[in-house]
Amino acid sequence: MKHVLVIGAGVVGLSTAHHLLQSGARVTLVDKDPEGDKASYGNAGGIAVTEMIPASVPGMLWKIPGWIMDPLGPLALRPGHTAKMIPWFLHFSKVGTHQEMTRIASALASINQRVYDDLLPMLEVNGMAGELHRQGALTVYETKKGLNADADSWKLKANLGVEVQYLNAEETRELEPALSENVKYGVFTPQWSHINDPKCFVELLRASLVSRGLTIIKGDVVEVNPYSGLEVDVKLRDGQPLTADQVVIAAGAWSGLLAQKLGDRVLMESERGYNTTIAEPGVQLSREVIFAERHFVATPLTCGLRIGGAAEFGGLDAVANFKRSEALVKLASIYLPNLNAQGGKPWAGHRPTTPDSLPVIGRSRRHPNVIYAFGHGHLGLTQAATTGRLATDLAMGATPPIDLAPFSVERFN
Ligand SMILES: Cc1cc2nc3c(=O)[nH]c(=O)nc-3n(C[C@H](O)[C@H](O)[C@H](O)COP(=O)(O)OP(=O)(O)OC[C@H]3O[C@@H](n4cnc5c(N)ncnc54)[C@H](O)[C@@H]3O)c2cc1C
Repeated sequence: MKHVLVIGAGVVGLSTAHHLLQSGARVTLVDKDPEGDKASYGNAGGIAVTEMIPASVPGMLWKIPGWIMDPLGPLALRPGHTAKMIPWFLHFSKVGTHQEMTRIASALASINQRVYDDLLPMLEVNGMAGELHRQGALTVYETKKGLNADADSWKLKANLGVEVQYLNAEETRELEPALSENVKYGVFTPQWSHINDPKCFVELLRASLVSRGLTIIKGDVVEVNPYSGLEVDVKLRDGQPLTADQVVIAAGAWSGLLAQKLGDRVLMESERGYNTTIAEPGVQLSREVIFAERHFVATPLTCGLRIGGAAEFGGLDAVANFKRSEALVKLASIYLPNLNAQGGKPWAGHRPTTPDSLPVIGRSRRHPNVIYAFGHGHLGLTQAATTGRLATDLAMGATPPIDLAPFSVERFN
């Protein structure tokens, strides 16, 4: 029986462990803090299969200075970190062309189009079918200018199979009566869904996998050494060695550090996101609402209304600035006039973000027994089940159902 070691107990690592167990492998998962807080615990809970436009698009570079000027705006660069980001930023600028945008969107669509094929059986097998709500999502606009600015993106999405329904102000508020008069246009995307609560989702999945035979080890991986014959040795900080036939690196925003030690250059940054979850918000939404011109979202989770967004580049060790969580709630109260912000819980987490918005899924360049499954940025929850399926195909020697070339780590060389 093949023994596969997965590094990282976030939603991507757990989904990979699920698919490996399904295909008959013996699976060990190692995480420095298997039950600890991570991006997979506090995200917005969206199965955002309709999202495939990369962050770097034509004209984007001109908007960045304006966003940065606003101290609590949608984008922040921590001054001490900016110089370290130059290679990432150069790659980001390079892919900001029409041609690249279309190529990247098609690659992301190739994953997103099969998300439910991989996610629904995963939920079923693990007794989690009730975790998913297929209510679509509503993107709202205050101005015609804002809607028009996104017209090309909506057209591209429609060409890639996304169902798009344009709504006027009345139709938009019929779907979500809690929205204020500020909202003038809406776009309904029925294929989107959301889950009950990301933290519960990860906890339920982890418990189910353990009951199905997954072994979880607490340990900080400091070295992955694939030189000993056909096996891979993994060394933990406490000196404990682990051995497996194949290793999957699914360590979220920290994965680049391990890949780099294996001789693979990875351009990936922590793009920190913030949110506030309000247990008794005093307003009701039926689905995730995306406030397009203000760059934030609100999702009705079982733990409360989660209002989140922001993109802060400051490295993995920067102290969180929870004023961002507060600022998002203030912004939300413009659109949800009856919002009661009392008792809101702030949170921040590290999105693992590549400059081309594509995850890294594939084998290490030098070490075929090491498989990468990280770098999903804003779409890690959405793409976790499919990434797990793809990584499992590679580990078990099966042919993946989609072309993995766009996701190869080689693109950073
Ligand atoms: C505010 C916010 C909102 C978001 N909303 C959405 C959304 O609505 N939909 C969506 O699809 N995505 C969303 N995302 C993105 C999504 O949360 C992430 O892409 C996803 O959770 C990444 O999962 P992961 O398993 O790769 O990483 P993580 O959840 O970060 O897990 C990585 C794990 O690896 C472990 N690890 C790291 N290094 C080591 C090591 N050396 N040894 C051992 N263990 C290690 C860590 O302890 C951690 O447990 C959002 C993110 C944020 C921040």
